[in-house]
Amino acid sequence: MQQIAMINDRILPYEALEPVYLDRAFYFGDGVYEVIRSYNGKIFALDEHLNRFSNSLIAIGINSIDIEDIRTRVKQAYDEALMPNARIYFHITRGSAPRNHSYSDDLKPNFFLTVTELQDSKQVKKSGIAVSTFPDWRWKRCDIKSLNLLANVLAKQDAVSKGCDEAILVDENGFITEGSSSAFFAVFDNRLQTAPLVSNILPSITRKYVIKAAENINMTVTEESLTPEKAKSADELFIAVTTKDIVPVVRFDGNVVKDGKPGRYTEKLMEEFKHFIN
Ligand code: PLP
Repeated sequence: MQQIAMINDRILPYEALEPVYLDRAFYFGDGVYEVIRSYNGKIFALDEHLNRFSNSLIAIGINSIDIEDIRTRVKQAYDEALMPNARIYFHITRGSAPRNHSYSDDLKPNFFLTVTELQDSKQVKKSGIAVSTFPDWRWKRCDIKSLNLLANVLAKQDAVSKGCDEAILVDENGFITEGSSSAFFAVFDNRLQTAPLVSNILPSITRKYVIKAAENINMTVTEESLTPEKAKSADELFIAVTTKDIVPVVRFDGNVVKDGKPGRYTEKLMEEFKHFIN
């Protein structure tokens, strides 16, 4: 009698499994992550991302992490990469142990990080993207940047299958929460509208800067949920995410947004956003 594992077509003794195969993220998505970017050799909004990461860790009860150690690791890896425009992804999982829903408090968390090249998003920012709606099937703590992203994955894939670039998630009450991997905004006259920061959306760092940019150019900001119907009637729509900052939305569920071109305020916000980068 012996305990066995099988990895694809290879059988091995269970005891010979590398720790990565016992990582709780592998079974449960039991971990949290961050995505940061650099612009022209400088990491953007590192403090905000580390702060959100710390909040995510605490929210799931991983309490042994020194966030200053994470800052050092991020900088060390970024300096090593010599990459002006990079995406820095990292996650911490609760640790590796035989599969069991409950866990021991003395597990050693696993850290993983990559620095990869960020594709230029100039073209998509100029032409805008198409989005489609999808039910928000996620859990009730979307403020935690959890590794559990299955609902986001299914939503995005549905959008891609319809020739769209992003899925806009709609909750059971018929209100838009956010994109599958972005914050969502609408413009009516000179008023910017986006969902309020509660536990059903991620506290997007880009969202925070977009709101700052809007205030700088004297737009009114309303943090209030909107329906897909209302979004269809907006003067302008856009999404916001770290890796691309602001991206205009020119089609919503097959409907052309106004004249089908990136809106005037969206472009102003993109310009204003550049001040934060420099
Ligand atoms: N909302 C969701 C669900 C996301 O996954 C992301 C980013 O990945 C965002 C919003 C945007 O967050 P941020 O601006 O911090 O990149």
